[in-house]
Amino acid sequence: MAINLLKTVLLLIFLTVSFFSFSQENEKIVIVIIDGARYTETFGDPTHTYTPKMWELAEEGAMIDNFYNDNFTYTSRAIPALWCGAWTDVHDTIYQGHETNYAVLPSIFEYYRKQKIVPAEDCYYVLKEIESLWLPSFDVDYGPEYWPAFHSVGETDEEVAEQALQVMEDHHPHFLWVYFADVDHEGHSGIWSNYIEAIHIADSLVDVLWNAIQSDPFYADATTMIVTNDHGRHDDEHGGFQGHGCGCEGCRHIELLAIGPHIKENYISQQNRYIPDMAVTASYLAGINPEKATGHVMMEILTINGTDNNIKPTIALKGNSPNPFNRSTVINYTLSNNSFVTITIRDFAGKIIRTLINEKQPAGERSVLWDGTDDRRQKVPSGIYIYSLQTEKHSISGKMVFIPEL
Ligand SMILES: [Zn+2]
Ligand SMILES: [Zn+2]
Repeated sequence: MAINLLKTVLLLIFLTVSFFSFSQENEKIVIVIIDGARYTETFGDPTHTYTPKMWELAEEGAMIDNFYNDNFTYTSRAIPALWCGAWTDVHDTIYQGHETNYAVLPSIFEYYRKQKIVPAEDCYYVLKEIESLWLPSFDVDYGPEYWPAFHSVGETDEEVAEQALQVMEDHHPHFLWVYFADVDHEGHSGIWSNYIEAIHIADSLVDVLWNAIQSDPFYADATTMIVTNDHGRHDDEHGGFQGHGCGCEGCRHIELLAIGPHIKENYISQQNRYIPDMAVTASYLAGINPEKATGHVMMEILTINGTDNNIKPTIALKGNSPNPFNRSTVINYTLSNNSFVTITIRDFAGKIIRTLINEKQPAGERSVLWDGTDDRRQKVPSGIYIYSLQTEKHSISGKMVFIPEL
């Protein structure tokens, strides 16, 4: 009974952990989605036949060779996952008289607008004319108030690109999302030459967008562009390019190209990465916290180190789980550069009761387990504990609740 009361009290006063990431004030983000291009026709093609422009751009940026759709290989689920940095549920709804659906988790647009405190004009979603748009979330902490400005005009990818250029010129959004639909549409036609032509066009439009970015003083040298797909298409053993939707290599393997001031140049990463990692990485570059996302920052393609004065080397605390905990818990954190790291646990009175880490660690995603014992390996009593991460320049902390099993 006393334990239950304690549990309730502790839960009531339980505070969420703080999250810090570096923020490059003027960083602009442009994300381009090419729907349904199969990897074998994009970066998987060593002859570069269908995507010559993106191959050229890749020399100035980074490519992820093993980028995958790791769940639903169709658009209605994969696009929301790209938005949300997580595989979100999607619910049906009627919005402004149209049947449509919405993502349950908040999207990068909502994180961006709420955390940056910017109007919709600073966050544009450009796509072809669609009567009933798929919607971002109605999350209590985010929702419609923070949706992007939807600019749904035109029919073809060329027209969508033209509209994107116009939006950039008219509004100069810091965050721009461009969606090209034609490759998937032509793929479903089953006519190879149409499919290939659509890829070729999308490839050249990516180049047009990048050139526009680099020739506008607002965007030039201050913009990261990420190009990726929502899904691939069946490989020949699973039905061929006409369809998609299964778990075959063709459906799963997609491209990811990133280019910008904090992206490595002429770099091909072999690390496996997945759809949720895209928005989480874009958030990291924009200096926002996608708090309900599950993806990871793709540190391996970033040039974040102590010599870059625009970006302060930091640690990003991703919280601990489980919390509250009764046996052990894991503290997750990201180091954006090699750092000497100290992780300590304090009791609520502020006394250090355990030092978990005190060593130089390489950049990347890390975690450490705490089993609820002090430096003498004695179980500590139930209560609130504070974990602190310190590097040479930064210190962050979070609270957790330990309720040992009786
Ligand atoms: Zn399709
Ligand atoms: Zn397939």
